[in-house]
Amino acid sequence: MIDENTMVVAYDYKRGERRGPWRRGQPFLQRESEGSGDCINCRQCVSVCPTGIDIRDGTQMECVHCTACIDACDTVMEKIGRPRGLIRYASLDSIERGKLFHFTPRMAVYSLVLVVLAGVLAFLVFTRSDVEATLLRAQGLLHQTTDEGRISNLYTVKVINKSTRDVPVELRLESHQGS
Ligand code: SF4
Repeated sequence: MIDENTMVVAYDYKRGERRGPWRRGQPFLQRESEGSGDCINCRQCVSVCPTGIDIRDGTQMECVHCTACIDACDTVMEKIGRPRGLIRYASLDSIERGKLFHFTPRMAVYSLVLVVLAGVLAFLVFTRSDVEATLLRAQGLLHQTTDEGRISNLYTVKVINKSTRDVPVELRLESHQGS
C-alpha cells in the first residue's frame, strides 16, 4: 500500500552517507570535505530497534514504526552538535527530490475508504442490541419422554448483557401454552 509519497520512518541517506566514525571534536566541515555524512555509525538506531532491523537499509516489512530509532538518533545528533532528524518521518520523494508533503489521489481514496469504514463501525456500534442470546440444544441429547408421558428437551441458553446496567431477562415458551 505504500509508494514513494508515503510517510514512513526513514533514514535520510543523502545526509547520512558516507557513514563513518566521528572523532570527538572533529569539525563537521572537515568530515564533509572528506566525503563523510552525518551518520557516525554508532548503531544506536539498530540496538534500540525491537525487531532488530537496521533502518539505514531502507523501509522494511519488519518495521513497526515505533520510532525508537528516531529518538536514539536525535539524541546522538544533539550530542555531536548536528541537527536532529537524520532518521525521521519522511517520504522517499522528500528525501530523494526534496519534495514537500502533498496530498495524492491515492491518499484521498484511502481516506475515503477509512471514513466509510469508520461510518460502518459507528453504525454497528450505535444500532447494536443491549442483549444477545444464543439458544442451543444440549449436545448429544435427543428428546426424552417422562413417566407422565410428557416430552422433555434440554437446551442451553447463553445471554450476554452488552450494556453497563442490569437487564431483566425472562425465558418464556411462545408455543405450547403452559408447558
Ligand atoms: S543512530 Fe543515527 S548516527 Fe547512529 S548509526 Fe543510527 S543513523 Fe547513524
